[in-house]
Amino acid sequence: MSDAASYSVRDGIAVITMNNPPVNGLGSVLRPGIMDGIKKAGADPAVKALVIIGSVKAFSGGADIREFNTPKMNVLPSLPEINDAQDACPKPMIAAIGGFALGGGLELALGCHYRVALPKSLLGLPEVKLGLLPGSGGTQRLPRVVGAAQAVQMMTTGNPIPAEKALQLGLVDEIVQGDLLEGAIAFAKKAQAPKRIRDMTVKVDGDPKQFFEKARAEVGKAARGFPAPLEIVACVEAAVGKPFDEGRKEERQRFAKLVEGNESKALRHMFFAERQTTKIPDVPEDTKAREIKSAAVIGAGTMGGGIAMNFANAGIPVTIMDMTQEAVDKGVAKIKANYASTVSKGRLKQEAMDKCMALIKPVTTLEAGKDADIVIEAVFERMDVKKDMFRKLDAVMKPGAILATNTSTLDVNEIANVTKRPQDVIGTHFFSPANVMRLLEVVRGAKTANDVLATTMKLGKTIKKVPVVSGVCDGFIGNRMVEKYGQQSLFLLDEGCSPQQVDAAAYKWGMAMGPLAMGDMAGLDIGWEIRKRRTIERPDFIYSKVGDKIAELGRYGQKTGKGWYKYNLPDRKPIPDPEVEKIIADYRKEKNIQTRQISDEEIVERLIYALVNEAAYILEEGIALRASDIDMVYLTGYGFPAYRGGPMFYADTVGLKNVLNSILKFQAGYQGAVWKPAPLLVKLANEGRKFND
Ligand code: NAD
Repeated sequence: MSDAASYSVRDGIAVITMNNPPVNGLGSVLRPGIMDGIKKAGADPAVKALVIIGSVKAFSGGADIREFNTPKMNVLPSLPEINDAQDACPKPMIAAIGGFALGGGLELALGCHYRVALPKSLLGLPEVKLGLLPGSGGTQRLPRVVGAAQAVQMMTTGNPIPAEKALQLGLVDEIVQGDLLEGAIAFAKKAQAPKRIRDMTVKVDGDPKQFFEKARAEVGKAARGFPAPLEIVACVEAAVGKPFDEGRKEERQRFAKLVEGNESKALRHMFFAERQTTKIPDVPEDTKAREIKSAAVIGAGTMGGGIAMNFANAGIPVTIMDMTQEAVDKGVAKIKANYASTVSKGRLKQEAMDKCMALIKPVTTLEAGKDADIVIEAVFERMDVKKDMFRKLDAVMKPGAILATNTSTLDVNEIANVTKRPQDVIGTHFFSPANVMRLLEVVRGAKTANDVLATTMKLGKTIKKVPVVSGVCDGFIGNRMVEKYGQQSLFLLDEGCSPQQVDAAAYKWGMAMGPLAMGDMAGLDIGWEIRKRRTIERPDFIYSKVGDKIAELGRYGQKTGKGWYKYNLPDRKPIPDPEVEKIIADYRKEKNIQTRQISDEEIVERLIYALVNEAAYILEEGIALRASDIDMVYLTGYGFPAYRGGPMFYADTVGLKNVLNSILKFQAGYQGAVWKPAPLLVKLANEGRKFND
């Protein structure tokens, strides 16, 4: 037998132990071992039953991701072949589930005749998260055990369920309180005969036709064009209406279709892109990181509070400082309310909240945080204020501390250069709400030391962010691109669209929300301030003044109850507002703009290609390290639909030549002068290449 799967026999019970760390991925070394064990146990008259077990931490996490896209994936036996052998085995087979059984791991467990689990184990089929469906019988076996409704729920969300729930549903036959192997062997001794899931029928609540109509409507609405969830519903329907082998065949066909589709490719791209962001070509992986055992945050406003929560959540003590006791108290009260709301929703235990609050220390002097290993400044967005603060931090903070700024637009080099230790200065650009949003742009200054960068990237992971390196430029990666997106959204209004038409087209395409609703959420005063600055800094900056007309009326978005929409606060649902229509119509008249009907397709192309073109400049300038980093910025910070893989991946799927041709067409249209195709885009398009080559 292979090292990855050991075989032993105890009291007439064969035990196959999977040992393929870290998650017992069902890779090319493990599959043959499992198969051998099943065959051996089946053939040995001294064996009465068999147990398949992993470690206490992991039964199996499913396919071995290290073998994705390699020939090893095709090494025989395949998981379906193992499942067939499980079905054919004449002796009861028990899966002993410690930790988790996910994806192919749960399909292996479903191939067993019984399942026992530890109280804390999790069971799930998360394939939908990669745009796929469980392809080794999962869609046929799970419904036979838990019923159609639960199976649809589990497989279309991809969320795992705890052992206790699995027990109620019959997915687990027994929860083992003590030693897992002992419990599994005891269970195996009692098990009389194999109970094959393939021989069972699926329970459906009510009339199957009505059930699936309803399921399709519900799942389809939530999926918004993303195909995998509906394919899963179809497979469950096959499990109900067709014999097992036919259902399996249908599952295989639908799986193959999804694997080839752009959506699944996009999600797999995202999966790998996330693992790439911390790889920095000129910073060796073994660069010794500095130790971060404590942190300090300066400014207890919107961002400072959220940033402090990240540290507390990770168990890192943090001081939070503001100018007055009142300001810091207000900030801490907000943090407390934030945690309390999570507790009230049952998503956090009171003790966990108390622990976090105990780690956050409100202070009113910089000295109080001087021993912190990292300080993150989140004060007002003004260069003079930031410089003043960094001079003070330079004087106060202990040697070796990392001095970070949360600026969203200012020049990190200019800030670093007021200190005597620019090598220790870095940008950490969190996104609002900072305790929720996963993106962290890590801004590398010209003099930032390698170990400071490596430490900050590592810290980003520790506080559960997706850290992406950005060079210094106005807006860094994300906001620099979003400016072009916002610019197009306003030009579309000029030309005849309503805010709701633009937003609906973007939403339908998959964005979490449209650009104008997003503006209302972020605050229209912020963009207005930036535009005022831009007109001074970049006199050639072209933009529609229609946004200013809205902001000038004090319509700052959700915070004032009016923006591009009106709001019945505290309800944040945008309501179309005839006043806005009039402002836009007046503006068109004032500028003598000819309006026209604009298709949803054109709206989406103009918005998304504006992002793509700016991203190409960013990539070419070396502001982003790689195209997939830009994708991660948009996927984790800007509500870009995961199944489209990010702007660069999406452009690749459309074909860069097609993207370029559209841009050239837009050049001839309204405000066409803003469309300057990035040289990198032109080059790659002409060479028939991709951004993510
Ligand atoms: P905010 O106005 O909510 O909070 C700023 C806080 O800093 C205030 O509590 C203020 O009292 C305090 N402060 C100002 N000067 C200080 C000083 N000298 N010493 C101590 N405290 C001081 O602002 P915010 O929205 O939290 O933004 C803070 C920073 O984060 C800015 O640089 C901003 O550009 C950046 N940022 C904001 C967002 C966002 O969406 N709000 C997103 C990313 C980055």
